[in-house]
Amino acid sequence: MKVMKFGGTSVGSPQRIKNVASLVTATAGDFVVLSAMSGTTNSLVEISDYLYNKNPEGAMDTIGRLEAKYRSHISELYSKEEYKGKAQTYADGVFEYLKSFTKSLFTQTEEKLIVAQGELLSTHMMYYYLLEQGYKPALLNALDFMKTDAQGEPDSEYIKTRLAEVIKDFEGADLYLTQGFICRNLHGEVDNLLRGGSDYTASLIGAALGVEEIQIWTDIDGMHNNDPRVVEGTSAVRHLHFDEAAELGYFGAKILHPTCIQPARFANIPVRLLNTMDPQAPGTIINNIKECGSIKAIAAKDNITAIRIKSSRMLLAHGFLRKVFEIFESYQTSIDMVCTSEVGVSMSIDNTLHLNEIVHDLKKYGTVSVDLDMCIVCVVGDMDWENVGFESRAMEAMKDIPVRMISYGGSNNNISLLVRGEDKNRTLRSLSKCLFENA
Ligand code: ADP
Ligand code: ASP
Ligand code: MG
Repeated sequence: MKVMKFGGTSVGSPQRIKNVASLVTATAGDFVVLSAMSGTTNSLVEISDYLYNKNPEGAMDTIGRLEAKYRSHISELYSKEEYKGKAQTYADGVFEYLKSFTKSLFTQTEEKLIVAQGELLSTHMMYYYLLEQGYKPALLNALDFMKTDAQGEPDSEYIKTRLAEVIKDFEGADLYLTQGFICRNLHGEVDNLLRGGSDYTASLIGAALGVEEIQIWTDIDGMHNNDPRVVEGTSAVRHLHFDEAAELGYFGAKILHPTCIQPARFANIPVRLLNTMDPQAPGTIINNIKECGSIKAIAAKDNITAIRIKSSRMLLAHGFLRKVFEIFESYQTSIDMVCTSEVGVSMSIDNTLHLNEIVHDLKKYGTVSVDLDMCIVCVVGDMDWENVGFESRAMEAMKDIPVRMISYGGSNNNISLLVRGEDKNRTLRSLSKCLFENA
C-alpha cells in the first residue's frame, strides 16, 4: 500500500484530473490525497480578506468568478449526466455556503471553514469522476480523522486510531481518497495544516498506516539541483537524505513542504517525488540512506533582512546572545541565519512585520545596522566537517560576489551564504559551475 499526494498543479484542470485518475487507478488499494485545484486556495483566501474588510461585494465577485470556473470544469470533466449532476450539486452547495458568510460576523474560525472548501471540492470532483469510470473509490472526510493538539501540532496517535476505524467502514474499496491540508483542531473546529499542508497530510497518513512509500506528485521532474528558472542545464536530484530534503524544503525549493517529511522520516518510510507530466520518470527518492561526500543541490530564499548588533559589552560577557534572541522571540520573529564574532552578531530574518520594534529594542544593547533585500543561498549535501574541499569550492565560486554572512556547521548538510538579492542569480550560477560542473 502507498500514499499518493497530488498537488494543486496536478489537479489544476479537468484534463489533469483525468490524468491523475489514470495514475491512481493503475495501482488499486492505495491512499490518494488531493490538494485544491491550483489557484483555488488563493481565491478562498481572497474571499476571506474581503470579508475581514467588511466588503461583501468584493467577496461576492470573487465567489462568482470561482463558481463560474467550477461550473465549466465540471461540465468538461464528466461525460455522463448522472455524475455531472452529482458534482454540480455538491459544488452548488459549496458556493451557497460561501455566499452565506457575506451576511455574518467574520473571524479566523470562518476563514478556516472557507479555505477548507478547496480540497473538499477537488476530492468530490475526483470521487465522482472515478465512479463514472467504473471504479469503487472510498471518499474519506479528512475532518473525521486529521486532528491537531493543544500546540497546534498533528495528533499522531489520534490520527492513527481514527484512521484505522474510518477505513474499516469501507472494506472492498478500490482506493481511498481524501483531502490534504484540512483538519480539526483541539476544540473540534475546522482548521488546516497551513499553506502547502497537503504534503503534510500525505506524510501523516503514510506514517499512521505504515505504508511502503509516500509519493508526492507534482508538475516537474523531481527536485532539481538548482533553480531551473535561473540556471541552465540543471538536473533532477535522484536521491536525497531526509536531512537534505529538510534543508532544501526550508530554503525555497518549494516542491516539498519542509515539515511534511518528519512523520515519514520517524516512521522510516521513503518519500518519492514524481512528475504527473512524465509518470515513468524515476523522480526523486528521499530516505534515510546517506551518500557520503556528495553535494546535492543549491537553493535560494529571497526577501531576507540582515540585522547586525555590535557591542563592546559582548566581549567576554555571558548572556548577551540570550538577551538579543529574546527580543526576536518577544516579537514572534524567527531567526534564520546567525553569525557571531567577539564583538558582534548578525542575524537574518524573513518576517519584517516587527522590524522597527526589534531594531528599537536592540539599540539598548549596541549599535544596530540593517540590510534589506538580501537573499540566502544554500548549498545542500553530505558535508561532514571532517571531509575537506567543499568549503573551498564554494568560496571560490564567491570570489567576485560580495557576501554579507556565511554559515556552516549548524548541520552537516548545509552551507548558507547571505548575498544581496540582486546578486542571487549570479551566485546560483557561479556555485553551480564550481560545485557541479568542475566537480
Ligand atoms: P503543487 O501544487 O503540485 O503542490 P507546489 O505549489 O508545491 O506544487 O510547487 C511546486 C513548484 O515549485 C513546481 O511547479 C516548481 O515550479 C517549483 N520549484 C521551486 N523550486 C524548485 C526546485 N529546486 N526544483 C524543482 N521545482 C522547483
Ligand atoms: N491548497 C493548500 C494550499 O494551496 C494546501 C496545499 O496545496 O498543499 O496551500
Ligand atoms: Mg505543494
